[in-house]
Amino acid sequence: MFDYLVVGAGFAGSVMAERLASVADKKVLIIDKRNHIGGNAYDFYNNDGILIHKYGPHIFHTNSKEVFNYLSKFTEWRNYQHKVLACVDGQQVPIPINLTTINSLYGLNLSSAEVEGFFASKAEDISRVQTSEDVVVKAVGRELYEKFFKGYTKKQWDLDPSELDASVTARVPTRTNKDDRYFTDNYQAMPLHGYSKMFEKMLDHPNIKIMLNTDYHEIMNDIRYKKMVFTGPVDEYFDFCYGKLPYRSIKFKFETLDQEKFQQTGTINYPNDYAFTRITEFKYLTGQKHSKTTVVYEFPKADGDPYYPIPRPENASLYKKYQALTDQTNTYFVGRLATYKYYNMDQVVAQALTTFKKIEAESPNEPLYDETTVNNRN
Ligand code: FAD
Ligand code: UDP
Repeated sequence: MFDYLVVGAGFAGSVMAERLASVADKKVLIIDKRNHIGGNAYDFYNNDGILIHKYGPHIFHTNSKEVFNYLSKFTEWRNYQHKVLACVDGQQVPIPINLTTINSLYGLNLSSAEVEGFFASKAEDISRVQTSEDVVVKAVGRELYEKFFKGYTKKQWDLDPSELDASVTARVPTRTNKDDRYFTDNYQAMPLHGYSKMFEKMLDHPNIKIMLNTDYHEIMNDIRYKKMVFTGPVDEYFDFCYGKLPYRSIKFKFETLDQEKFQQTGTINYPNDYAFTRITEFKYLTGQKHSKTTVVYEFPKADGDPYYPIPRPENASLYKKYQALTDQTNTYFVGRLATYKYYNMDQVVAQALTTFKKIEAESPNEPLYDETTVNNRN
C-alpha cells in the first residue's frame, strides 16, 4: 500500500517523509522503534512543566538559508545565541577560547592584536594536521590544549585527541576577539514551541502514516512498500556483517531544582573534573519562564543508544565497506547513523533535502505504486 517505508522519525526520516508526501505525492509509512517522533531532537514538558530535551541539549544553528527556510514552514523561531563557559583552574571562562578567556586565565589585559602574538608564541609548528590534538596544539599550544581539550575529549570519546580525526576538535574554533558565542552561524534560533511540535507539523499530511514502538524488522515482511528510506545505524541494516561500527553513547541525568536559575549560562563544560562533560540548563535554550529549573548532566559511555559516530580512520574504513553495500541496494540511507557522519541537525536536513532531489531527478514519472516491486528491500 505504500510507496515508501521510512525507518526512523528523526530529522532525516521526517524530512524525507514530508518531501516525498507533499512534493512527490507519495504514500509514506514512517516508523520508529521509540514511542515518539523527533529522533534525538525530541523534547517534552517534564512533570514540573519544564520543556526539556530527552536526548541532551539541542541548539539549532545553520549557515544554510535553504535549510532555515525549509524548517520555517513548520515552526516559528526564538532567536537564541548559545554561550558556553568552561570550568578551568577554578574559573569559569568562555569556550571557544577567546580574548576574555586568555585575559581571565592569565590575569592579563591583552588586546586582540596582542593575543594573536600570545597564541603564536605558544603554538606548535605542525605541518600536517591529522588529529584532534594537532588542530588545537597548532592553534593555541599544548598548555591550553591540556586545560580545555585533552580531558574533555578523553571523557567524551574515551580516546586521546591524538586518536581522533582533526574534524572533532576543529568544531570548536579559537578567537582573538571577545565574541563569546558558541556558534557564529547566520541563523541561530530555537523552534518557538519546541522541536516535537515542529515534527508534528512536518508529518501532518494525509499521505503520511506514522507507526511508533515498531522496529522495522517486526513489520518489513508484513507490509507492502516499494522503496525504503533507512535512517537507523547502517551496520544494523546489514546485520553487522562486517562487525559493529563503534558509536559513543551518553547517560543523561536530569535534575529539577526548586530555584529559578542554576548556572550563569546555557552550558558549562567541565574538561578536567567529574565524570560528566557538561551541564546544560534548558531554560536558557527555550526561554521558558518558570520558578523551577531543570538541568542535564552528560555522562559519556560506550554502550547504550548510538548517539555519536566516532571519527577516526579505522572506523571510516569499516564504514566504507558498509557504504559499498548500500550502493547495491534499493534503499536510501540518510542521517547521522545511516551515513556514519558526525552531523549536526542542519546538516542532516540538508542531506535529506539533497537525497530527495536525487530521487526526484531519478524518477520524475515513476508510478506511485507498483504491485511487482513490493517489499523490495535489496
Ligand atoms: P536520529 O535523530 O538518531 O533518528 C533516527 C531514528 O531512527 C531514531 O528515532 C531511532 O529510534 C530510529 N531507529 C533506529 N533504528 C531503528 C529500527 N531498527 N527500527 C525503527 N526505528 C529505528 N545537533 C545540532 O545541530 N545541535 C546540537 O546542539 C546538537 N546537540 C546534540 C547533543 C547530543 C547529546 C546528541 C546525541 C546529538 C546532538 N546533535 C545536535 C545532533 C542531532 O541529534 C542529530 O544531527 C540529528 O538528531 C540526527 O537526526 P537523524 O534523523 O539522522 O537521527
Ligand atoms: N571539546 C573539548 N572541550 C570543550 C568542548 C569541546 O575538548 O570544552 C572537544 C570534544 O572532543 C568534543 C568536540 O570538541 O567532543 C566537539 O565539541 P561539541 O561541543 O561540538 O560537541 P557536541 O555538542 O557535538 O557534543
